[in-house]
Amino acid sequence: MKQFLVHSMWVRLVALGALLALALAATTQGPESNCPTANACNPNTCKLPECGCSGAEPPTADWSQRPQILYLTYDDAFTEFGETNFYSSLFNGTFKNPDDCPIRATHFLTAQYTDYTLVNKYWKMGHEMASHSITHRSSTDYWKALNVTGWRNEIEGLRKMISQFAAVPKEEISGFRAPFLQLGGDEMYTALKEDGFKYDCSWASRDYGYLKLDFGLFPYSLDSASVQDCPVEPCPTCSYPGLWVQPMLDLEDRWIGADPTHPNNGMPCSMLDACIM
Ligand SMILES: [Zn+2]
Repeated sequence: MKQFLVHSMWVRLVALGALLALALAATTQGPESNCPTANACNPNTCKLPECGCSGAEPPTADWSQRPQILYLTYDDAFTEFGETNFYSSLFNGTFKNPDDCPIRATHFLTAQYTDYTLVNKYWKMGHEMASHSITHRSSTDYWKALNVTGWRNEIEGLRKMISQFAAVPKEEISGFRAPFLQLGGDEMYTALKEDGFKYDCSWASRDYGYLKLDFGLFPYSLDSASVQDCPVEPCPTCSYPGLWVQPMLDLEDRWIGADPTHPNNGMPCSMLDACIM
């Protein structure tokens, strides 16, 4: 009996060891071991509109002629408060694009407090609705460590909610922004690719943002390796054909000298409300 107990304990220990090994393998083998590594972009094979090399901007002989793109985007819940106090006056036709059409925005939505009747109303007005996760949990460590299934539940889950509750066709919801712009590396981009999203708008840049905004990156596809700096790791290493990145070009506030690595600049802010000074 004693021998059996000892033996049984060994079996349990071995089984535990095997389980630990499995768990370790599961945490150390991310999708980067299964997805194809991205190589440097070849402009002869990567051509618009299907493919775009990062850093391959329009000719820059005359900087003043460089085309500019400006997006108006909002994050988190779409609420009646926001509609009454901001959106209703911004989007009533007072402000227009150069082509005389009224301006519109992209809304990166989360689940809590979102008013889906308003989402439907604004989508019909020509606004874009996009995913910003279901839970928007406040721990960036949660997002940093999330696996592909977790990302899919968050990203695709919110798309389903918009589609079902606000009656917006699923194929019209094609963009994503990560909470707090916390990238999830290849796990996050694999999830986007698997669910057929067309673009991500989470990847911040300082080198192509406030440090030299004249060189601000245009959108590019992840068919090939990106030249973009990675201030909020982890960034993707694999190739995701047809999945685009709209870089978040960092602004800077007026707190000049607060960042010792760039004494002549202010603090970086990817969004206006993060510019403290
Ligand atoms: Zn947010």
